[in-house]
Amino acid sequence: MTLTGQHIIGNSFSNQGTQTFTGINPATNNKLETTFYEATQAEVDQAVQLAAKAFFAYRKTSPEQKATFLERIAEEIMALGDLLIKQCMAETALPEARLTGERGRTTTQLKLFATVLREGSWLDARIDTALPDRQPLPRPDIRQIHIPLGVVGIFGASNFPFAFSVAGGDTASALAAGCTVVVKGHPAHPGTSEMVGRAIQKAAQDTGMPEGVFSMLHGTSHEVGMAMVNHPLVKAIGFTGSYRGGKALFDAAAKREEPIPVYAEMGSTNPVFVLPQALKERSATIADGLSKSVTLGVGQFCTNPGLVVTLQSEATKAFITKTGEYLRATAPATMLTPVMSQSFNKGIAHLKSVAGVEVVAEVEGKPASNAAGAVLLQSTGKALQQNPQLAEEVFGPSTVYITCDTKEEILETARNLKGHLTATLHATPQDLEEYKELIDILENKVGRLLINGYPTGVEVGYAMVHGGPYPATTDSRSTSVGTAAIKRFARPVCYQDFPAVLLPDALKNENPLNIWRLVNGAWSKESIA
Ligand code: NAP
Repeated sequence: MTLTGQHIIGNSFSNQGTQTFTGINPATNNKLETTFYEATQAEVDQAVQLAAKAFFAYRKTSPEQKATFLERIAEEIMALGDLLIKQCMAETALPEARLTGERGRTTTQLKLFATVLREGSWLDARIDTALPDRQPLPRPDIRQIHIPLGVVGIFGASNFPFAFSVAGGDTASALAAGCTVVVKGHPAHPGTSEMVGRAIQKAAQDTGMPEGVFSMLHGTSHEVGMAMVNHPLVKAIGFTGSYRGGKALFDAAAKREEPIPVYAEMGSTNPVFVLPQALKERSATIADGLSKSVTLGVGQFCTNPGLVVTLQSEATKAFITKTGEYLRATAPATMLTPVMSQSFNKGIAHLKSVAGVEVVAEVEGKPASNAAGAVLLQSTGKALQQNPQLAEEVFGPSTVYITCDTKEEILETARNLKGHLTATLHATPQDLEEYKELIDILENKVGRLLINGYPTGVEVGYAMVHGGPYPATTDSRSTSVGTAAIKRFARPVCYQDFPAVLLPDALKNENPLNIWRLVNGAWSKESIA
């Protein structure tokens, strides 16, 4: 496939703008070949208008048709073969094995949403049949399901060029919900975005989807993204990236004449509490596991464990020293973009300047290849209370170990946390009994709690929550990973006393979709007499 550098607008390609950019190989700082165009305001409008028009036809396609479309996208991505992996390696410096795995995760995710559509319970169909003889007043027939919101604007993430980008979880869940999608590809991997975008375009054409069900625009300027958020026909936004970016989009959406939901996943430091008994019993194993989790993918994961809390003791000192040894043995590696590696260095310099912070281990990366090495910093519970910015994300392979003097100080440290995606406890049954209150506190701070595990590696499934209270996300009621992500792009609507012929299939008496429904308060697949 020869890259065009153009935007995908429905079935066409477009390059009306005069501003251009190229991808950069972060391992060499060399510009890559293809010239990409910056989308104009007119192109944003064209893509959104087409998506709004397509919405009315797309939302009426059957669950089976949408499922077939999603599966075809997965097939078309696989058909791109090694060329896609090679393009992505050149743009991100991520290794082949990681990208092959991430492509598999992306196609599996698309197929999982196809399964969700065929199974149908996500619609949350509810039926309260009429009670004409009820006293003192008869009850009308009331039926509810979820319907799609409309056009969704999606921002591709830099750190997951497949799984959170053009055909990633946000796109898969929005299309599954019945929404049409306009993606702003991340400028760090424009060629990868074009290849995946064209795979979706082909899948849409081959499965007879209405033109405009999917479009993709390139852009390095905030104007492109802001134009999408401010477009009156856009009804929701999906975003993964920085706090600054997510908050700016959220604020802009709230200021619109018609405010819209922004599902921004903005990362966190994922506190890990290593409790005394567990530390005594398996200090070296936990130090090994944590150092692997901190350096996985050069630390460029929003679930990276960036804050580790322990109780001060001799065993804790040995644990910190051991983690330092493991981290020192990990080779530096190239980060996703030159800017990201500069931000990492800046973030570490800032942490080091905070009073009460000591460097335990630091591996220098090579500036020329944008490489970052692991950094382990150490501080105390008291210093953290005075400098809460120690608990803020520095995107990359670093972590801060916090030692507390008492159990109460550990609990207070937990109480002072803001919202995070995850929290982890390393604990024995005895620790769990002694620190019961910690779970209570942490439940109110995060979207996922782990025991004796590591937060990196987010399973795509039915029960996953990848979300959490602000500032980890802008909406703690949802998840951006797993099948429940579909609910972000739908809303409940109810039909009162509707004639059978006008009811959606999911609510018809005969239950033609054969889905689970809550009929008069009981789950059932039976038809209604
Ligand atoms: P980013 O700066 O948040 O950018 C992500 C996307 O949002 C880009 O398309 C960007 O467009 C757009 N955007 C950002 N700010 C915007 C604004 N004010 N108005 C309109 N659009 C805006 O993220 P990034 O480039 O991937 O990486 C930068 C930093 O984000 C990292 O160093 C890291 O701290 C963090 N990050 C977090 C996660 C996570 O999982 N939570 C993932 C990746 C990165 P432009 O290209 O026009 O800027």
